[in-house]
Amino acid sequence: MIENNLKEVSDRIGAACKRAGRSREDVTLVAVSKTKPVSMLMEAYAAGVRDFGENRVQEILEKAPLMPDDIRWHMIGHLQTNKVRQVIDRVVLIHSVDSVALARQIEKEAAKRDLVVHILLEVNVAGEESKFGFSVDEAEEAAVEIAKFAHVRIDGLMTIAPFVENSEENRDVFQKLFQLSVDIKRKNIDNVKMDVLSMGMTGDFEKAVEEGASVIRVGAGIFGARTRIGEINL
Ligand SMILES: *Cc1c(COP(=O)(O)O)cnc(C)c1O
Repeated sequence: MIENNLKEVSDRIGAACKRAGRSREDVTLVAVSKTKPVSMLMEAYAAGVRDFGENRVQEILEKAPLMPDDIRWHMIGHLQTNKVRQVIDRVVLIHSVDSVALARQIEKEAAKRDLVVHILLEVNVAGEESKFGFSVDEAEEAAVEIAKFAHVRIDGLMTIAPFVENSEENRDVFQKLFQLSVDIKRKNIDNVKMDVLSMGMTGDFEKAVEEGASVIRVGAGIFGARTRIGEINL
């Protein structure tokens, strides 16, 4: 099942790239494996997946030692400052930096261990109450502040679009994140690259790809629906 799902998702990414005149290699698929057992992750691994996304530190710490070393783990969920120390050397990218205080804590822990930590700024484009992230208006100022941290590199932006019935409704969220990345890039801030745009999930990734996503995060479309959120099966 997982192998077929991956093939279907990959074909749909390819078709969206084609429609947008983009190259398939410019889009990285992160398989979001939260709440799923290691056996299922291994199935995805066997089918070629190397980028896995988790939204809880605990789950990364539990799964990573049971899986091959060449996996690139992505932290995609809200990160508490007291968990930073445990996760910064386990992941290739933290997608969910949603405050300057969190970035400051990453800087502090990374400096202690002489690490450079790659991050994205999470932007709450639609301004939803229930979601973390900088507002579109705050993001540039946050980038300027965070860029001062020597052990943190801002690679780009991330957003979680609203849950909608018709993915077309999220196109404008993706366009806004893209435009924001262009605007910030133009400022040529040291330590800020803006090459990565992490946007699009199972319900809307084709629209995100059409609007410039370089990373999409797909869970249910690969592993099937999550029944009990927060449950961990190892
Ligand atoms: C769960 C999750 C996803 C994947 O969602 P699906 O709808 O299952 O594809 C993507 N990004 C974040 C931040 C998530 O928490």
